[in-house]
Amino acid sequence: MKCDKCGEDAVIYVRYSGAHLCPTHLDEFIVQRVKREIRQSPVVPRQGGILALAVSGGKDSLVMTHLLHRIIGNWRGLRIVAITVDEGIDGYRPESLRIAAKFLAELGIEHRIVTFRDETGFTLDEMRRNKGLESYSPCTYCGVFRRLLINRTAREMGAKAVAFGHNLDDNAQSVLMNVLRGDTDRLLKLAPHNRTKEGMVPRILPLRWIPQKEVYLYALQHEIPIQTAECPYSNTAHRRKPQRVLYELEEQTPGTRHSLLRLQDSIQALAQETQKGEENKESQRCSICGEPASRKICKACEIKMALKNDTSSL
Ligand code: SF4
Ligand code: ZN
Repeated sequence: MKCDKCGEDAVIYVRYSGAHLCPTHLDEFIVQRVKREIRQSPVVPRQGGILALAVSGGKDSLVMTHLLHRIIGNWRGLRIVAITVDEGIDGYRPESLRIAAKFLAELGIEHRIVTFRDETGFTLDEMRRNKGLESYSPCTYCGVFRRLLINRTAREMGAKAVAFGHNLDDNAQSVLMNVLRGDTDRLLKLAPHNRTKEGMVPRILPLRWIPQKEVYLYALQHEIPIQTAECPYSNTAHRRKPQRVLYELEEQTPGTRHSLLRLQDSIQALAQETQKGEENKESQRCSICGEPASRKICKACEIKMALKNDTSSL
């Protein structure tokens, strides 16, 4: 097949738009959509300031970093700082940490590493063996501490926003999961955020409209390293089912993922319209750690207490 734009050999058939694209035109198509996402975000620090990047070392976060470095890396007054969370997962995290550190050093991007051990006294592997956490899946406490560490580190460095490398498939899955659970509250809180809330650094998603397959092709084209090891706990990830369902829906009706994101956008816009005037209401804080929380004691403190339960029973 030939590229619809230039007649060179195509590397992809983009089903949802019906176009065959060569590497150059796929690259252009990706850059256009990332630029549009950045342009539309009111929280991107255009007038200077710090933009934090959540960089795990996985392909999506490196592709995001590469694209942002290309597109906004030379903005005057903008300082880009990458944050990597080391959960302490043997056989998995050390490789991605090495990849991230080398990649960021080559681009000249500042890099901060924060660890679960420093935060909780335990690595994720140790938490997995902790009897106090038996009723939780590892992805639950992994996600809780990762969110906490990234938000707090970004806030303490004074970042105006924090960018995550979630692609179109990830985002459509999040919307689908919340729709299936009927969880309007979470649906309304999903990133990208277009305003700052007390204690919370707004999140942006530059790859929001880029499907996983295109992210992969971008990584190949730009020789971005791809980690081979998978997280040993990923088979417990609760995303597997929605992943399969979404794949089938997209096969039958190309464009389903885009429709889910548009649904999210319109629901969030409607909710913001009705909440006007309430933006400055003081948000709730955890009574133990003082971090923003939706209840009296935040999930991170709840898990820390459960961790201690095991130690005290030894
Ligand atoms: Fe953490 Fe689960 Fe992802 Fe592994 S698969 S890194 S445990 S969220
Ligand atoms: Zn707390």
